[in-house]
Amino acid sequence: MSHIVRKIIHIDMDAFFASVELRDRPDLREQPVVVAWEGARSVVCAASYPARKFGLRSAMPLSVAKRLCPHVVCLPPRFPEYQQVSRHIHHIFARHTELIEPLSLDEAYLDVTHNKQNLPYACEVASHIRADILAETGLTASAGIAPNKFLAKIASDWRKPNGQTTIAPQQISAFLQHLPLSKIPGVGEKTQLKMQQLGLTMLTDVLPLSRGELVLHFGKYGHRLYDLARGIDDRSVNPSREHQQISSETTLSHDAYLDDISVYVPELCQEVWDSAAKRRYAARTVTVKLKTADFHTLTRSLSFSSDLLQVSDFQAACLQLLQRMPQDAALRFRLIGVGLSQLHRTDEEGHQYSMW
Ligand SMILES: [Mg+2]
Repeated sequence: MSHIVRKIIHIDMDAFFASVELRDRPDLREQPVVVAWEGARSVVCAASYPARKFGLRSAMPLSVAKRLCPHVVCLPPRFPEYQQVSRHIHHIFARHTELIEPLSLDEAYLDVTHNKQNLPYACEVASHIRADILAETGLTASAGIAPNKFLAKIASDWRKPNGQTTIAPQQISAFLQHLPLSKIPGVGEKTQLKMQQLGLTMLTDVLPLSRGELVLHFGKYGHRLYDLARGIDDRSVNPSREHQQISSETTLSHDAYLDDISVYVPELCQEVWDSAAKRRYAARTVTVKLKTADFHTLTRSLSFSSDLLQVSDFQAACLQLLQRMPQDAALRFRLIGVGLSQLHRTDEEGHQYSMW
């Protein structure tokens, strides 16, 4: 197999939404903080590091978060602000390379094999970027530097928050020695169960298995597993990642009031969730669309700082978005739709969870 030597940086802002809020509220820095609207059906968009110590996470119902941590501070999300910071860090990336592949508002891959400022070391590029981000936005980012995307993504999590880890080509096999399979991108619950049944727990456990054996057990993903166990990942940084949404909608047989429309949410969510899961997509943004009886379309969206983990997270977000629609008792609706966006392939990018 051809082996391409690249210098890839994965940049990931630390607890992004929460950090933007805490930048403006330094008095709350040591306290558990979540970004969420207050309300009966509210869900958490992001949790600060002190809040995570209580088990709080994004997409969790706010009521659960408050039970786990009664003194949690709740700040309302400001998505336009997060988008503005996102554009700013993108400009900082562009000082070094045009090969930028954004994964979400606060995460991107950069190919700096050839970088605009001709810095000899990719770790130097990453240091410059992180220093500029801190100086210009007041926020910290973590970076992973490696010869490929798979390793760069894992490395950025290694010393989070405000950390940087380089995996040089000669360090790859040592690095892979201690990597549990459960932490490998794309290993979902079903695959994990299968691995347990086969007695595979560490990435190195896969090494004795042939490509054919892995494909037999894991289907197409077996090919990827075979390569990852050897630290191989030849995917290039793709700057023209298209913006997609997976959605489903239903037109009602009778126009319905807002209160009655939520019964359609579970089924629509399940349908969209299954179709995303089948294509191995994870999502961070939820959208609900309603069409009024007189054909006006209303949409509301909610973004999370990490991937939605389960269909119930998706449903909870939709129910909350319905509460953010105009609460006009006279309004009737003829259509409801739900969608997932900010999609990325889980077998490419993996999940956001802390690795060690
Ligand atoms: Mg992040």
